[in-house]
Amino acid sequence: MTSQRTRDRLIARLQEKGIHNQRVLEVMRQTPRHIFMDEALATRAYEDTALPIGHGQTISQPFVVARMTELLLEGNPAITKVLEVGTGSGYQTAILSQLIEQVYTLERIAPLLRQARDRFTALGLRNIRTRHSDGSWGWPKEGPFDAIIVTAAPAQLPPELRGQLTIGGVLVIPVGGEVQKLLRITRLADEYREEYFDPVRFVPLIRGDIQ
Ligand code: SAH
Repeated sequence: MTSQRTRDRLIARLQEKGIHNQRVLEVMRQTPRHIFMDEALATRAYEDTALPIGHGQTISQPFVVARMTELLLEGNPAITKVLEVGTGSGYQTAILSQLIEQVYTLERIAPLLRQARDRFTALGLRNIRTRHSDGSWGWPKEGPFDAIIVTAAPAQLPPELRGQLTIGGVLVIPVGGEVQKLLRITRLADEYREEYFDPVRFVPLIRGDIQ
């Protein structure tokens, strides 16, 4: 169930669905997804579907992980430092950490963050810095970032986030109510460019209290 063959099949499926970035596909082929979820669900790890990870949260659908990563990398070819908001299982973080030099990730639910950290250690991923906080404020002390990826959906873009982009930096975020759209924002010298992409369904970005 967790063999290289099932993983290869998932990658073929992602290509059929339109993922074309070879670096993204290769990293996803190499990264075990089953270790980012409960053992009871591990047999479903290579289906192209979101799955529960406890605390009312989900590990994102592989297609959406691939799509958001591709949108980031193609939006700014010079990314060396990325911020992720919503660590969750840590799967998206692990993909980013194999493509980008420095990864910063924020999560508001402490037990999820602890489990994700253990997984990074187990996989030998050493370029990830984590913090337990409300990520809608970004990570001002470590910014600015060449890229920011948000893996939970606000109704509207939190204004603090785009302000932590470098010039030329890109932000990819699902925005909306129950059904959202992927929005990519590029910071230009004196304005922000906005582009909309696929419809998606993420858990809400929760502002305020952390757990
Ligand atoms: N990339 C993750 C997605 C997990 S679901 C994965 O593939 O596993 C989204 C995550 O965002 C949840 O873990 C949720 O707790 C977290 N989240 C929601 N609002 C947040 C906020 N304001 N700050 C930080 N994390 C937040």
